[in-house]
Amino acid sequence: MQSTKRDTASWQAADKAHFIHPFTDGASLHKEGTRIITGGEGVWIRDNDDNVLLDGMAGLWCVNAGYGQPKLIEAASEQLKSLAYYNAFFHTAVPSSIELAELLAEVSPAQFKRVYYSNSGSEGNDTVIRLVRHYWDLVGKPERKTLIARNFAYHGSTIGGASLSGMPWMHAQGDLPIPGIVHIEQPHYEALGSGLTREQFGLKAASWLEEKIIEVGPENVAAFIAEPVQGAGGVVVPPSSYWPEIQRICRKYDILLVSDEVICGFGRTGNWWGCQTFGYEPDLMTFAKGVTSGYVPLGGVMVSDRVADVVENGGIFNHGYTYSGHPVACAVGVANVKLLIQEKIVDYVREDAGPYLAEKLATLNDHPLVGYTDGIGLMWAIQIVKDKSTNALFDYDKQVNAICREFARKNGLIIRAIVNDRMIIAPPLVISRAEIDRVVEITRRSLDETLVELQLRGWF
Ligand code: PMP
Repeated sequence: MQSTKRDTASWQAADKAHFIHPFTDGASLHKEGTRIITGGEGVWIRDNDDNVLLDGMAGLWCVNAGYGQPKLIEAASEQLKSLAYYNAFFHTAVPSSIELAELLAEVSPAQFKRVYYSNSGSEGNDTVIRLVRHYWDLVGKPERKTLIARNFAYHGSTIGGASLSGMPWMHAQGDLPIPGIVHIEQPHYEALGSGLTREQFGLKAASWLEEKIIEVGPENVAAFIAEPVQGAGGVVVPPSSYWPEIQRICRKYDILLVSDEVICGFGRTGNWWGCQTFGYEPDLMTFAKGVTSGYVPLGGVMVSDRVADVVENGGIFNHGYTYSGHPVACAVGVANVKLLIQEKIVDYVREDAGPYLAEKLATLNDHPLVGYTDGIGLMWAIQIVKDKSTNALFDYDKQVNAICREFARKNGLIIRAIVNDRMIIAPPLVISRAEIDRVVEITRRSLDETLVELQLRGWF
């Protein structure tokens, strides 16, 4: 039965009265009015007033398979009908959670045969903190407790996840990071690599890890955690020399290497996992988002044999969630992974959509506001600059990228404005070439409008 449609103003009033939004300034949200999104198909979303927008952000970097995929919807509904919930605590499991574990092992590097489920990336990374410390306890090195992460990393918003994250504005609220988590600088060549070639800089940025290990004392370090490509930190692609050197350093000091694949996993960089794109072999991989294409919440940690063999034979690991291995989430995960395999979507990103988007975005390099583009596969940043000759940025409080984002939205495209005046494009992996053309065409128009606006304001 079709219900009478509630109008947008009414949704907005109720939203304002009752809903506290994540990572949002409530005052400015409710001044503008919340945008109410009601539908999605492929790479397109629709709002309550039937405006259609191209979702250049795949939701929050998660709707890898695109919206409205019948197989994912069927999988959820079939599982809900047969068994909506059962837990994995009391020597039990449901078939979908086992089947997904089996499939994840199949699409992961050889050292990963086992998975620990969570509901989100944040919980996955909290699991990492507990797991690595438990591992070192079990192997008789309980002093190995410190985790090293990076500035401007994003690893989640729980106390553990936010502590691993390197966002100063998150640490400023609630006295973070918690003890035992320290940070090093990110491998951001354009910001920090002056005077060096990219490859020289990659080695230098990796050497900051070694310096930190020595400062903390190798005998106290449990793990190093990083995203293959920093996502929320601005889509910062490291030089190719960076990751192999990081791996060498971790091996040298016997430190566990954790790859946070929450964004990069499930095809975003053109391989199943970002670590495959950058050529390193982690001991743990956190995942979430793309495992279900965001249709239902699911996350987890892929656990290498080195760690799993110890933990599985080490008594009870006193950790877990009511929804670890949730039947519906795992059923959708199974359908999603099978879809990615059957439709060869990861190959499509690597061989077709990714290179095509790269080529089209490069055409924006002649724009007066574009310093350069940075990215890989289907995750890209456009660096907005005040001065193309020096790549100098506008003052941060001018929020120039937010101006551009709003023009893009008005023109029918969702892109994200992120730290350091970067515009992010990370669409569903099923985006067609024609849709990529549309993304780039709207982006150019929005940059043009931004330029005019800046000139009117006397900022350019
Ligand atoms: N790690 C990375 C790399 C992420 O990008 C995110 C979310 N954007 C998280 C962890 C946290 O995931 P969640 O929001 O599902 O908790």
